[in-house]
Amino acid sequence: MGLKEYASKRKFGETPEPEPTPRRGEKRLVFVVHKHAARALHYDLRLEMEGVLKSWAVPKGPSLDPSLKRLAVMVEDHPFDYKDFEGVIPEGNYGAGSVIIWDRGFYRPPSAAGDDSEKQLLAGLRKGDLKFVLEGEKLRGEFALVKTGKDGKSWLLLKKKDRYATREDILGENRSVHSGRTLEEVFEAGPGTAAGQKKIEQIRLREAMESAEMKDAPLQPMPHGIQPMLATMAKVPFDHPDWLFEVKWDGYRAIAELRDGDVSLYSRNQTPLEKKFFPVVDSLRKLEFDAVLDGEIVVVDAQGRPDFQMLQNYQESGSGHLLYYVFDLLYFEGHDLTGLPLLRRKELLKRILPSSPRIRFSDHVWKDGVLFFTVAREKGLEGIIAKHSRSTYQMGGRSRQWLKVKRQPSQEGVIAGFTEPRGGRRSFGALVLGVFEGDELVYIGHAGGGFSGKDLKEIRERLDPLIRKECPFREEPKTNTPATWVKPELVCEVALSGWTQDGIMRHPVFLRLREDKAAGEVVREVKP
Ligand code: MN
Repeated sequence: MGLKEYASKRKFGETPEPEPTPRRGEKRLVFVVHKHAARALHYDLRLEMEGVLKSWAVPKGPSLDPSLKRLAVMVEDHPFDYKDFEGVIPEGNYGAGSVIIWDRGFYRPPSAAGDDSEKQLLAGLRKGDLKFVLEGEKLRGEFALVKTGKDGKSWLLLKKKDRYATREDILGENRSVHSGRTLEEVFEAGPGTAAGQKKIEQIRLREAMESAEMKDAPLQPMPHGIQPMLATMAKVPFDHPDWLFEVKWDGYRAIAELRDGDVSLYSRNQTPLEKKFFPVVDSLRKLEFDAVLDGEIVVVDAQGRPDFQMLQNYQESGSGHLLYYVFDLLYFEGHDLTGLPLLRRKELLKRILPSSPRIRFSDHVWKDGVLFFTVAREKGLEGIIAKHSRSTYQMGGRSRQWLKVKRQPSQEGVIAGFTEPRGGRRSFGALVLGVFEGDELVYIGHAGGGFSGKDLKEIRERLDPLIRKECPFREEPKTNTPATWVKPELVCEVALSGWTQDGIMRHPVFLRLREDKAAGEVVREVKP
């Protein structure tokens, strides 16, 4: 074929690819496999013959599995020096996109042929049945290229059965053997453009689809109305090599279901959040895949600290910066990931989430929970979540594989009633609180402090329509002033300093209403 076609397609003033020069000397024959994100992502297999690189584009990439046949389309010869090319071919040029040296090494005919090696290979090429042995870093053992059809360009790339054959997916090893970089990293180092950004996302998704995670996750219809996995309260942070640690974001837990460009976003108690947090939904709608995400919606202040008050008022005030911190991936493009270990789910999640002003990957640290907790506390964060790196996702379950450690202990309580105000106060004196033990609401104390004037008024307004005669506890608790009972529906969160032996909170102080939580799921966080 020679190098005329290669040269005619390229402008060597613009592309960093090498100019055609024939090679000379050297006995061992070289092969290279480029991974190339052009219009479509593909691999290029190049075999040295007659001083040039005979080349095939392999759309699905090579495989070490002898049961797979991969289409290989013969393309123009490339110069020998192309074996060292890695970089970005600029937009507007032939094959624009990034290229990495995915694999490289030597190759030879299957039977020792000494000086006749090249002749033997050339004969195979002409016959349309080329057998060869690769000695690369990723590809090893015997392969064949077999010509099919009459167009003269279509071949099949096959792996022969030998000790290198495996069903394991070699394409998961996605880094350059030359630089250690991924296609994406090579691309990001090049000149950035909007079209380039689009291409990065394509590479990202394509690589996610090819990942071992997807192969190990069963095909399933997309689940709906998910009850998120919950963490158990732990008293102190710890260090452990099997655990990872995330920031405990102080906001609304939210599940996002993305399907065919439609987004539903809802809370733990299945309350729709699309309207309230529409800017997050707008950002999620731009993601070009089907998935179920688990994360926390927060509003951060100018220092980047989550502010729960700002979050609750976001719809009215719009102040602060709204973010969706995503920490788990339950479903992706037809595959159920809940049975995979957490760390693998997070790896896939990190790979598919593009950089977006509203959507963030909630990253983690390994094993050093104590230090991480100290740092989180210094930064004014609510606490940390410790997660076992191999934990599977247990929907709706409070698991001991996930533990939360809070800077300030707190407890959710179902509001069962309120007491009469005393002194100058209006609206009510204290909130009478309970938690569920099975179906039974059990008294845990009453909180009379921590309310702003606005809180008092607002909570009373919310409670008035719920007032009823009947006490929701089996046994009526003693209160300082007479209590008015309500239907146990509204949930609040209080800070506390501990528990008495009878299971009553010590020094409870009102923190906030929790409209994202259902009364029925409120239980004692720590056994007294
Ligand atoms: Mn190519």
